[in-house]
Amino acid sequence: MAEERSKSNELAEIGEFGLIKRITARATIKNESTLKGVGDDCAVLSYPGKKVVVTTDLLTEGVHFNLIYVPLKHLGYKAVSVNISDICAMNALPRQITVSIALSSKFTVDAIDDLYAGIHLACEHYGVDLIGGDTTSSLTGLTISVTAIGEADASELVYRSGAKPTDLLCVTGDLGGAYLGLQLLERENELFRLNPTVQPQLTGYDYILARQLKPEARVDMRDIFSTLDLKPTSMIDISDGLSSEILHLCEDSGVGCRLYEERLIFDPQVKKMAEEIHINPLVAALNGGEDYELLFTIPITEHEKVRNHPDITVIGHMTRKEEGSMLVTSGGLQEIPLTAQGWNPLKGN
Ligand code: ADP
Ligand code: MG
Repeated sequence: MAEERSKSNELAEIGEFGLIKRITARATIKNESTLKGVGDDCAVLSYPGKKVVVTTDLLTEGVHFNLIYVPLKHLGYKAVSVNISDICAMNALPRQITVSIALSSKFTVDAIDDLYAGIHLACEHYGVDLIGGDTTSSLTGLTISVTAIGEADASELVYRSGAKPTDLLCVTGDLGGAYLGLQLLERENELFRLNPTVQPQLTGYDYILARQLKPEARVDMRDIFSTLDLKPTSMIDISDGLSSEILHLCEDSGVGCRLYEERLIFDPQVKKMAEEIHINPLVAALNGGEDYELLFTIPITEHEKVRNHPDITVIGHMTRKEEGSMLVTSGGLQEIPLTAQGWNPLKGN
C-alpha cells in the first residue's frame, strides 16, 4: 500500500482492530446497491426488483497455494477473481465482496498490506465494493475466504441445467495455461530447492505464468452476450478442468455431448511447456483446471452469432443422454468417454 509502512511490522503490535482499520481504509463504495459497507455489525445492500447471486470460496495455504512462489499481492487478486468468475458463470454482474482471513504470527503487517493491495486492485478492476469480512488468528498458515455478491434480472440468469440435445458447446479464450504455469513454477521451485544458486528460468513464459498467478474472470462476456443478443442455455466457469465442467453441464441438463479435440485451440506457450514436460496440451485443458474461462451452450440456430467471434470457440455439441459424453479425437478416429479427473493442481499431486 502507498501509505507509510508500519513502524514495528508486527501484527501483535497493531492488534486486530488496528489491522482491520488498516486493510479496510481503502474500501471505498462504488455501487448504489451498497447502502453500508465496512464498519457496522452487518453490511447493508439494496437490490430492488433484482435477483441476487452469492458465492464463496475458501483457500488454504499449503493446499490451494504455495507462498514460496505465489506473491501475496497476486494471491489477493486471485482470491477475488475466482469468486467473480462464479458470478460471471451465472451471467450476473458482480457488486460486492467480503474477505475473511486467518493469520499466523509469521505474517508481518507489510505482508498483509501486500495481500490487500491485490484485493483492492481486484475490487477496482471488477468494480466491486469490499463490504466486510472477518479477521482471526491461525496456528499454521494463511486461510482466505472470499464471498462475492452479484445481481441480475431473473430473465438474465443462466444455470447449469438448461442445455438441450443439439445445442452447441462453446468456450471462451484458451485452456491449459494455468496448469502449465503451475508446472513451470513447481519445476523451477524444485530446481531452486536442490540448488539455491540456480536462478529460476521463467522468461518466455509470461502468458502461462499470468494465467496461473493472476487469472482474470470473464466479466466481459455478459456484455458480449448482450451485444450478440445471445443467451446461453447453460453455463459454468472452468475452475477444475474442461472434462469435469462439461460433465457437470451434461449431468445437470440431462444430456450427453461430443467434444472435438481438433476444435480446441492452444497458446504457443501452452504447447511449448506441454512439450517440455512430455504431455499432450489436451490433457492440460481437460484435467488441468484454474483457467477461469466460461463454458456454455447455445441453440444451434445461433451458430452464426459465434462462428467468427474472437472470444468464443465452438468445441462440440450436446446430444441425447443415451449417447454418452465423449471426446472425439482428431480426425474423428476415436470416441473416448470423458472422465472427471477433478485433478486439483493445488493439492500437489
Ligand atoms: P464484529 O465483531 O461485529 O464481527 P469486526 O470487529 O470483526 O466486527 O469487524 C469490524 C468491521 O470490519 C466489520 O464491518 C467487518 O465486516 C470488517 N472486517 C473485519 N475483518 C475484515 C477483513 N479481513 N476484510 C474486510 N473487512 C473486514
Ligand atoms: Mg468479527
